[in-house]
Amino acid sequence: MAPGDSRRGEYLAYRDVGFRRNAFRLIEVMVFWSEDTEEDTTPLVDEILHSIFFLGRLYNPQFSPESIVDDGDMCECLKASYPEAFRLYSSQLPRRAPFSCVLDMIVHQFGQENEGEIRNQLQQFVEFIEGLDGAPSKKLLSTTLCVSRIVAPDSNRYYGVSLSTFGKVAGRIMVAVSCLQTWHEHVAGAVLSYNLRGSPRPVFNGTIRLPENVRCETYNISDHEAKFPCRSCGNLFGFDTNERKEWPYGNCAEVECVSKLLENEAEATEQVRFKAEATIEGRQEAEREVREELHQLLRMSRYQWDGEFYLPQCIQPMYKNDIEIN
Ligand SMILES: [Zn+2]
Repeated sequence: MAPGDSRRGEYLAYRDVGFRRNAFRLIEVMVFWSEDTEEDTTPLVDEILHSIFFLGRLYNPQFSPESIVDDGDMCECLKASYPEAFRLYSSQLPRRAPFSCVLDMIVHQFGQENEGEIRNQLQQFVEFIEGLDGAPSKKLLSTTLCVSRIVAPDSNRYYGVSLSTFGKVAGRIMVAVSCLQTWHEHVAGAVLSYNLRGSPRPVFNGTIRLPENVRCETYNISDHEAKFPCRSCGNLFGFDTNERKEWPYGNCAEVECVSKLLENEAEATEQVRFKAEATIEGRQEAEREVREELHQLLRMSRYQWDGEFYLPQCIQPMYKNDIEIN
């Protein structure tokens, strides 16, 4: 064995433990929260299971659902309740990264208006997952939160988190999927203006300028420190920023957050301005390119996609028989 091989082996083992441990803890906490809420949040549990199992499938070396949920009883129980997530993770693509489901669960529990509580809960959650057994790993955890709203009394708040996967390939796959399937068309259009390597696409410029009355504020989840938008987000949405750092397009918390705002605020959506003239043909070409990039990335990961995106299931209530009697 060459010097350094054993150390590399140790590093790889440590790295892989980080993924599996964080994946298991995310699932465990989501299941606990879901049982603790009165409203039906089982689709979020189903969605995070599928999304985590999908990422486990992409991971090198692969992690099966059974190796992620390595508590036998819990695994059997989850399989019985969420059979589709176990069945379809290796053929259908998730629409979102796992941490976006955690965010939705927390917002669901505390209410969109309770921004302070949501920020505290996210911070505690990340501390809890990271702090376990003294070997911190950021895998599957978001680092930033963005909160957006229309500047008006009692306006709704919308929340987004930065992309939470591992490695470049998984990140690019999630951005491609989100452009094709998940984000609001204006946000998807803005992100589609750049290829997955971060260069502008010659065929299409769908970058936008948000209306003056939309506020976006971004924070570090771990210490609540405010952050300026990065150069990429400035390019996508017209934010004024002196920040030079350019994160991969589509990775930032602002993207998910602005998408949710535009989905829900029709007036703001009408006031969005496009920075360039773009044709429908140009957009279709950009979509075709991103779909081809997605196929290439999946081929590299030896993933056989059936062309479908996973639809989270609503699980039947435990007391279904009682309901039928009534
Ligand atoms: Zn950014």
